[in-house]
Amino acid sequence: PGVIDAKRCISFLTQTKTLLPEPFRMALGNRLYGCDTCQQVCPYNRKKNATHHVELQPDPEQVKPLLVPLLSMSNREFKSRFGTLSGAWRGKKPIQRNAICALVHYRDKSAIDALRLMTETDAREDMRALALWAVGRIGGIDEKSYIESRLLADTAVDVQTEGRRLIEEWGEADAISTAHL
Ligand code: SF4
Repeated sequence: PGVIDAKRCISFLTQTKTLLPEPFRMALGNRLYGCDTCQQVCPYNRKKNATHHVELQPDPEQVKPLLVPLLSMSNREFKSRFGTLSGAWRGKKPIQRNAICALVHYRDKSAIDALRLMTETDAREDMRALALWAVGRIGGIDEKSYIESRLLADTAVDVQTEGRRLIEEWGEADAISTAHL
């Protein structure tokens, strides 16, 4: 009561680089960088006009880009498209991670192929793990055999943790529905 835990602030979380716990991934919603909802709801800001400087209006292609192309963006591409934004100061990884969370937020099935490719080819263990999690969360139990195949192919700890958690969750759901037959 009356206290804010800054480590749970979504703006802070969007700027971290690690695999976030799942509740935080879901809390990001569609935010790629920052939050600032507190600025919008703050009573002191109620009568402020934030739109009268046209030159400060955000470019939609920069602040709300298509999500899937972000997954395979090179460092050079990231710098040329987003390098001038304040949100670029942590590099491309947090933005890619947040894009994966946003795809799960939207349950975007058209992203599954790109997420699978990332799971199979990305050099970063935690990003492969997050992409695998996203395939499971978007595709659901239909992706079980794919997740199992990745568990056999990729022994990285993060990948094993995320994949096994999905399989266990689906196993428990199966057991509960069987018990009710
Ligand atoms: S509303 Fe403000 S304090 Fe709350 S999560 Fe967003 S940026 Fe952080």
